[in-house]
Amino acid sequence: MRLVLVGPPGAGKGTQAQFLAAHYLIPHISTGDIFRANLKAGTPLGLQAKVFMDKGELVPDSVTNEMLKDRLTHGDVSNGFLLDGFPRNVAQAEVLRAILAEKKMPLDAVLEFSLANEEIVARLSSRRTCKDCFQPSVGVEKCPSCGGDVYQREDDKAEVIARRLEVYQEQTAPIVSFYRNEGLLITVGALGSVEDITAHAISALSRVSE
Ligand code: AMP
Repeated sequence: MRLVLVGPPGAGKGTQAQFLAAHYLIPHISTGDIFRANLKAGTPLGLQAKVFMDKGELVPDSVTNEMLKDRLTHGDVSNGFLLDGFPRNVAQAEVLRAILAEKKMPLDAVLEFSLANEEIVARLSSRRTCKDCFQPSVGVEKCPSCGGDVYQREDDKAEVIARRLEVYQEQTAPIVSFYRNEGLLITVGALGSVEDITAHAISALSRVSE
């Protein structure tokens, strides 16, 4: 299964990505997590990305596309992959299409999680993220997945959330039509329990993976 997850920040892409990747036994590739891991390790890439991430802006395509291209050379993608957070604009979607065409590994589906703006703001402002594995959680002091300490991402603070939503509407939302035109789009409502949303997603995807 070769899958892209799309949706506004806070729609639950990261959470759903964990379950879907485990279900299909495919790697979960989150460009945001790769940037955060680089930042934690103090690499030049991480420090370069931080400037944009802290403001809620997209990291420039030249940097992000190269990073993604490199990640797709790893052997673990041969049985499929789940992209979470890439592409973030139409130019990235076109680059991805070209990379995958060259590898003869076209996408099977693009799963869009839809959610109203008020719900997004409420979710993001209460979200905490694990310092070690980056898993998101709400209302906990330790990561439910690995026991690591949790913190509030700089870009989950109120001032930055508004900008991230604008960036989503202006730059990322157009990829929904891009993928609808490609016949790849599947939309799932992102309101409800995590388990129910995962079940809806798997049920919708079963129609494309057979
Ligand atoms: P995320 O964890 O997916 O919400 O990403 C956090 C931040 O990382 C975003 O707000 C961007 O600053 C940056 N980022 C992640 N993925 C991309 C991408 N595909 N293109 C540009 N910037 C990205």
